[in-house]
Amino acid sequence: MNVPMLDLKAQYQSIKAEIDAAVADVLESQYFILGPKVKECEAAIAEYSSCTYAVGVASGTDALLISLMTEGIGAGDEVITTTYTFFATAGSIARTGATPVFVDIDPVTYNINPELIESKITSKTRAIIPVHLYGQTADMDPIMAIAQKHGLIVIEDAAQAIGAQYKGRRAGSIGHYGCFSFFPSKNLGGAGDGGMVVTNNADRAEKLAVMRAHGSKPKYHHKVIGGNFRLDAIQAAVVLVKLAHLDDWTAGRQANAARYDKLFGEAGLAGDPIVLPKVLTDRHIFNQYIIRVPRRDELIAHLKEKSVGCAVYYPVPLHLQECFANLGYEQGDLPHSEKAAAETLALPIYPELTDEQAKYTVDCVAEHLEKAAASS
Ligand SMILES: *Cc1c(COP(=O)(O)O)cnc(C)c1O
Repeated sequence: MNVPMLDLKAQYQSIKAEIDAAVADVLESQYFILGPKVKECEAAIAEYSSCTYAVGVASGTDALLISLMTEGIGAGDEVITTTYTFFATAGSIARTGATPVFVDIDPVTYNINPELIESKITSKTRAIIPVHLYGQTADMDPIMAIAQKHGLIVIEDAAQAIGAQYKGRRAGSIGHYGCFSFFPSKNLGGAGDGGMVVTNNADRAEKLAVMRAHGSKPKYHHKVIGGNFRLDAIQAAVVLVKLAHLDDWTAGRQANAARYDKLFGEAGLAGDPIVLPKVLTDRHIFNQYIIRVPRRDELIAHLKEKSVGCAVYYPVPLHLQECFANLGYEQGDLPHSEKAAAETLALPIYPELTDEQAKYTVDCVAEHLEKAAASS
């Protein structure tokens, strides 16, 4: 049996007529950059994430960058974030000229540990970027309390968490800015790169929109230096079609997660030796299903041999990346993140995954553990 890590073709086949018609409409209109489709998409994403405003941008990375730029964050400033995330979170901070300050994770949720934030705050700190990793929000109440106490901006990196919920609130609506990505492998993916920033503040929304178009307002007059961060209409059209299916797909991912939990339980592996994901918030949207497993790299080889897709997110925490060597972190500085990087593995969780595929995947993991036990 073949179990791909992600099967976007299966998803496309299920909505092909709708997608093709939406793209054809944009081609007919020849209105490609911003315009009515992008406005419609912004309104829909704002509503979906319980925010008043949304500003479409060219990627999730740009969503982060433009939020920082809108706050005027740059050289001499510090921004606190998690070390265990996709590179863009910290890359965006560094690109403004500010310094990323890395914090370790809670080993249960893999999200930033709020208890470790306050000791990292200095007179230079301007913002905190919590990341809602794998589709479950960070513990936002303590983070917002710390931010308020110290007058800091909170930018939610919700690239993996559109529709996730924390104490009744949608991801992206809790901080001052919420950043989404429409990269094709995200739960709500476009037909290329795309992203969006949501906010509940009219002034910030206005500034984001200006920043997105070279800081131009009125046209050809520039009070600030922005860039070309615009969302295009084809992406907006595709995202709009897919948004109508997102809750069904989320339910599919949640059902797959529950099925894995059950199968690992029945195989006697749940908890020990395999650590399963823990849902500690109202709505985990399972962008990834992450397990911790002994001798992970041998398991990866075994799964590959069995044609089961899997992936490591992320093998090197950001504080140990070569490009951040100048920041002076060392191995051992953020131990929970380093351990997670060495032990975790993502299994296929996309909504179209079948019962047989999930069962086969768990059987292959169990087989590896038996082999490993016999050989140790
Ligand atoms: C995907 C992702 C981004 C970047 O989004 P792009 O659209 O690929 O630029 C940022 N942060 C996290 C946590 C992501 O997973």
